[in-house]
Amino acid sequence: MTARTDERRTTRVRRCQRVASGIRHPPATIICPMTSASQPDTSCYCGGRFSRIGPSFRSQWGIVRIVSCTCCGVSRASDVPTVEVLHQLYAGASVYRPPTSGAFAEQKKRFSSMPDELARFGFRTGRVLDVGCNAGYALSAFEDAGWQTTGIEANLAVASTAATLIEGEIHHDLSALGTDRRFEVVLLSHVLEHILEPRDFLRKLVSYLVPRGLIVVLVPNYGSLVIRYGLGGRWSGFIPVQHIWYFTNNTLKKLLGFEGFSTSWIGTTEFLSFQSSSVIKSVLKSPVVIAQHLLPLQGGELRGIFRLERKPLP
Ligand SMILES: [Zn+2]
Repeated sequence: MTARTDERRTTRVRRCQRVASGIRHPPATIICPMTSASQPDTSCYCGGRFSRIGPSFRSQWGIVRIVSCTCCGVSRASDVPTVEVLHQLYAGASVYRPPTSGAFAEQKKRFSSMPDELARFGFRTGRVLDVGCNAGYALSAFEDAGWQTTGIEANLAVASTAATLIEGEIHHDLSALGTDRRFEVVLLSHVLEHILEPRDFLRKLVSYLVPRGLIVVLVPNYGSLVIRYGLGGRWSGFIPVQHIWYFTNNTLKKLLGFEGFSTSWIGTTEFLSFQSSSVIKSVLKSPVVIAQHLLPLQGGELRGIFRLERKPLP
């Protein structure tokens, strides 16, 4: 990235923050779904406010109401749980359970090409920190490619499984790493949308990255028009309580930009994909692949690779 592009981006981000401070819309009411208590803070991490009421979706787990920031445009669930509710939820067995060996292999496949993709950005091997590593699906793929692995997993049962399957260390909390550890790559696979204060969280992660290190982010893709207007509530990404943020390509880039990252690459999974790599399915797939190049149908997962360029904005 050139210095000029970087300067333009920084100016845009600053303008976003400045404009936000002048906005005086009535704030949306934010109610905790567990305690029914009002949440007084309706301010966005960019300095703007969640004043734009968006659509509601009836998912299989309940209704998800969306509010959007009038400044940076990021969308969020209007009902935000407390930290305590989230801690209890993720520590228990209701959300995360150790996988079967078949499920582990299937999930690991999703990450099999990731080490090769990162080689294009200057890191053939190195140290990877997977925050929210679950049973170690991604770490296992990284170990196969010669990477040194470390995982953080809050759920004790799932972390125990990861510890048996992964050669590297598995911890329950970032604080166990101390302050001296550095990594070439930090992976956040379906984690950022669960975090109450994503800017604070990213800032903490920056302290573990080497200069010009990478953060790889995977989140549900709220920017897919097919999902928002076609699937609606049937999309598996709409999960009340757990999914707080609903990112698009632009709002994810902006969030990482606030914390000093440039976008090295961003894209989505294919809208239609086949899990099998058999010859017959490959032939069947080819017209679909061509169609997807002609029609910009974004899939359900957004993947971004972001490089640490500078100190975060205040
Ligand atoms: Zn905002």
